[in-house]
Amino acid sequence: MSTIQPVRGTHDLIGEEQRRYTHVVSTARHIAGLYGFDEWSTPIFEDTKVFSRSLGDTSDVVSKEMYSFSDRDGESLTLRPEGTAAICRALVTNGLTQSLPQKVFYAGPMFRHERPQKGRYRQFHQIGAELMGAAEPLADAEAIALGYQVLTALGVAEHVTLELNTLGDTASRDAWRAALVSYFSGYKDRLSEESRIRLEKNPLRILDSKDAGDRSLVADAPMMEEFLTPEARTFWDDLRRTLDGFGIDYKVNTSIVRGLDYYNHTTFEFVTSKLGSQGTVMAGGRYDGLVQQMGGPEVPSIGWAAGVERLSMLLDASPAAPRSVVIVPVGSPDEKALFQILQGLRRQGVRVEIGYRGSLRKRMERAGKQNASHVIFLGEDELAKGAFRVKAMETGQEEEVSRDRLLSDAKAVFAGVGGSTAQ
Ligand code: ATP
Ligand code: MG
Repeated sequence: MSTIQPVRGTHDLIGEEQRRYTHVVSTARHIAGLYGFDEWSTPIFEDTKVFSRSLGDTSDVVSKEMYSFSDRDGESLTLRPEGTAAICRALVTNGLTQSLPQKVFYAGPMFRHERPQKGRYRQFHQIGAELMGAAEPLADAEAIALGYQVLTALGVAEHVTLELNTLGDTASRDAWRAALVSYFSGYKDRLSEESRIRLEKNPLRILDSKDAGDRSLVADAPMMEEFLTPEARTFWDDLRRTLDGFGIDYKVNTSIVRGLDYYNHTTFEFVTSKLGSQGTVMAGGRYDGLVQQMGGPEVPSIGWAAGVERLSMLLDASPAAPRSVVIVPVGSPDEKALFQILQGLRRQGVRVEIGYRGSLRKRMERAGKQNASHVIFLGEDELAKGAFRVKAMETGQEEEVSRDRLLSDAKAVFAGVGGSTAQ
């Protein structure tokens, strides 16, 4: 029978890849805690409306990337393509719109039917942060500072640039949209087919186009800046001043409109040149109307999401694989006595393994292969004597250690023998 292959665009996390993934997520979780964010976990699938209502019909995600299906009850469900809409749904359905602000961190798999390539998968993973219930630019700056500190803690901040833009408030956006429609309408025949459709449905997204012809027209398109209402301009000025106060560098990039419909005021991306065309590692913005679209009150909010795979690829070094102490039985020692030592070490927080079979030589070979920090030789004689030989694999140094010491002070024993740092 032929082997069953993994689904296109999915990948297993094993060994080094899993360690990178865990390092990214646990670092982000820790930093989010420093900013007072609590972790939420929402279901992997939701009512399709959670996403179709919020992300916009013309967004790439809704128009062509969602994994939607009817379940056995005939309900339309969707594997979540992103986290923000689901977190807003959870805010409303858990009755939390009365206890604001809510600061939420999340991590987990997302699903989009895209063309798989380096840094782009059909099941990928995101970490994200949402600050819901704060309309002040300070909230935007805090969310961005949190993202920046995550990147710094991962050691990738030097490879990324923060690009920042404003989409203004509704009035600014309406005026800008009208100006864009009249500008691009004058060049309809030069626009790509996709952008001609965008012109009808969501002209702002033309600015996001990757088509070279579109891009040359975009260069001279009317700028948001000219259409900001006084309130939106104040917000934009305050945000930049606050970021300066936080000591965070940024570059204004007026073409950052983001692919999803729900953003207003702030939009931003942390981008890198180190990942080819998949250069955005973290992206977000303000979404004051989204909670309302989920049937809740107006809850001004700001957040971001980052791709764990892209961050993992940017890490300079892999987190080290953990090393074990390996118990090597000599001859056939009493099993009960052996298991007591095995479990006694584990209870002290030492990572201990025992080979299941094989000669002494085979077991030693295996301990070497699995990169053991130490081995403990354990035979009848040693048990009778109440003392065992502990060998540091790196230096070959050996020491006899009493059973009592091993069962009361194991960490110090392994730190001492061979000066190992592994435990
Ligand atoms: P892109 O322009 O790369 O398609 P996007 O605008 O669709 O990104 P968001 O929805 O803002 O991305 O998601 C936030 C982050 O999640 C991205 O910056 C990226 O790091 C990551 N991401 C998005 N889609 C994928 C994917 N298919 N595979 C891997 N990572 C992804
Ligand atoms: Mg995309």
